[in-house]
Amino acid sequence: MKRMKNTPRILDGVAIAGQIKAEVANEVKALAAQGITPGLAVILVGEVPASQIYVRSKVKTSGELGIYSELLTPPESITTEEMMVLVEELNDRNDIDGILIQLPLPKHVDTKRLLEAVSPEKDVDGFHPVNVGRLQSGQPGLAPCTPAGIMEILRRSGLSVAGKNAVIVGRSDIVGKPAAMMLLNASATVTVCHSKTRDLAEFTRDADILVAAIGRPGFVTAQMVKPGATLIDVGINRVEDAAEVEGLFPGDEGRAATFAKRGSVVVGDIHPAAFAVAGAYTPVPGGVGALTIAMLMKNTVAAAKLRYGLGPEAD
Ligand code: NAP
Repeated sequence: MKRMKNTPRILDGVAIAGQIKAEVANEVKALAAQGITPGLAVILVGEVPASQIYVRSKVKTSGELGIYSELLTPPESITTEEMMVLVEELNDRNDIDGILIQLPLPKHVDTKRLLEAVSPEKDVDGFHPVNVGRLQSGQPGLAPCTPAGIMEILRRSGLSVAGKNAVIVGRSDIVGKPAAMMLLNASATVTVCHSKTRDLAEFTRDADILVAAIGRPGFVTAQMVKPGATLIDVGINRVEDAAEVEGLFPGDEGRAATFAKRGSVVVGDIHPAAFAVAGAYTPVPGGVGALTIAMLMKNTVAAAKLRYGLGPEAD
């Protein structure tokens, strides 16, 4: 008998981000009718090119959705104490609902101390220990944008989570750990793997939902994936080696053209060959990455509503 070719479903992050941004824009309009303009302050220290690109898109998207934004660009030489003063001023300002400190900060700056200095009510990145605790105990609060985006992709794609085996590879505070908590809160059976995990493939092959947040191009191979699984690829890796690109995307003319033009291609943590056996997957680019800024906008509006006593929006 001839085997049926698997046609995995592509989970379009750009389209989902578009829906969320449209909803946020509507909420901003409704707030404007009450005389409220949500405000976001972004602190970008020094001149890290990747951070400059991210911050520019955050500011641009704010403008598109009617959110007031302010970019603060202290020099690389700024001290922790000076940053603390900056954060305190923003905490006190009535026109600012969300404060985002673009990471990474220079090595001499105490990142943990600063993240804890941001008022939990204005912590639109969801990194403050109070918000981490709220997420853990399932209370409303501001949750980290990238894992929150993953949950939106699953929910808006009609992919059920309750009772599923969810395996997360990566345990960072920004992605892996909060993703694990959100999936647990949504009643998945959750396993978190990391660099010390033995027999990683034993775990990943058991996953109905596999989240890869590792930072290594094409790390999760087809052999590590259960056929039909939902693959969520958080990785954003720039590959600059022609042989590696060809190994990851053999015969892919589009990728080859991008490489010829830019000298690099962006690759996720999941090998493209693994997507072929999946039930559904998020592409890179155009998957999880597309959601992060949309979720930041959503958090900014949520923070404004909470601050004005308008409560969390009903989902
Ligand atoms: P990170 O802080 O470097 O964490 C990487 C995690 O992967 C760590 O927990 C590490 O384990 C684990 N790991 C590394 N090598 C491994 C191996 N061989 N086997 C199993 N686990 C391994 O990275 P991150 O900030 O979470 O980011 C992960 C990826 O997502 C990156 O590509 C990043 O660019 C991307 N990202 C995308 C977005 C977005 O879409 N907007 C946002 C954030 C991050 P240990 O803890 O044991 O070291």
